[in-house]
Amino acid sequence: MRKNIVAGNWKMNTTVPEGVALAKEVNQCLEGFKANCEVIICVPFTHLVPVCAVIDQQKLGLGAENCADHKSGAYTGEVSAPMVESTGATYVILGHSERRQYYGETAETLREKVALALASNLQPIFCIGEVLEEREKGTHFDVVRKQIIDGLFNLSAEDFGKVILAYEPVWAIGTGKTATADQAEEMHAFIRQCVADRYGKEVAENTSILYGGSCKPSNAAELFAKPDVDGGLIGGASLKAADFIGIVKAF
Ligand code: PEP
Repeated sequence: MRKNIVAGNWKMNTTVPEGVALAKEVNQCLEGFKANCEVIICVPFTHLVPVCAVIDQQKLGLGAENCADHKSGAYTGEVSAPMVESTGATYVILGHSERRQYYGETAETLREKVALALASNLQPIFCIGEVLEEREKGTHFDVVRKQIIDGLFNLSAEDFGKVILAYEPVWAIGTGKTATADQAEEMHAFIRQCVADRYGKEVAENTSILYGGSCKPSNAAELFAKPDVDGGLIGGASLKAADFIGIVKAF
């Protein structure tokens, strides 16, 4: 059966000492109880090695927020999937809307990144989601289906089975405006059906689909109670251990 997952996305926040302190705090909170879900933090590249050294990855998974679309070579400033793997991380966020919007990531680039991540034993947390205009026009289902088809449906069923999906309506990211639990469920059920149409019901039932977009301790339980919402990708609220753990405890 699919896993419930709460994953933090720290984005470009915290210095290394601040990040290490936050990771330690989250790790310590998790030592005190048995979470009913898998818990992951995705941190800036600079933080991966020192954070890896202070967490227990049996309790708290570690991921990067991106990786390059090439394995190695003359790509100044880029960080490859094998480099991420060598830090001890086992997850990577790919296709976040901020990367698509500000860094021009295309479906083609993302297919490369997904393939390289999988080749380096990194589990992709693959983000999809519509912008406000698309939701208002009523094209949000088509947009999300196209993002999944173009970014992921070239994969074999075995490889697709390693991917975690994150539905993040762009209008809800960092805006304080959360999708209602019904809106989230409607889209998650649609996404699961798209996966079933391509890979069959069993693969679809085993795929974890996280919700992301202004998820906080106060709304997490309602969202996670929906049958097709398998957890959350958490931005702002993952920067405070108490808030993040509050969301984990919503399961
Ligand atoms: C995100 O960027 O992945 C996200 C969900 O952000 P926030 O929780 O801050 O809306």
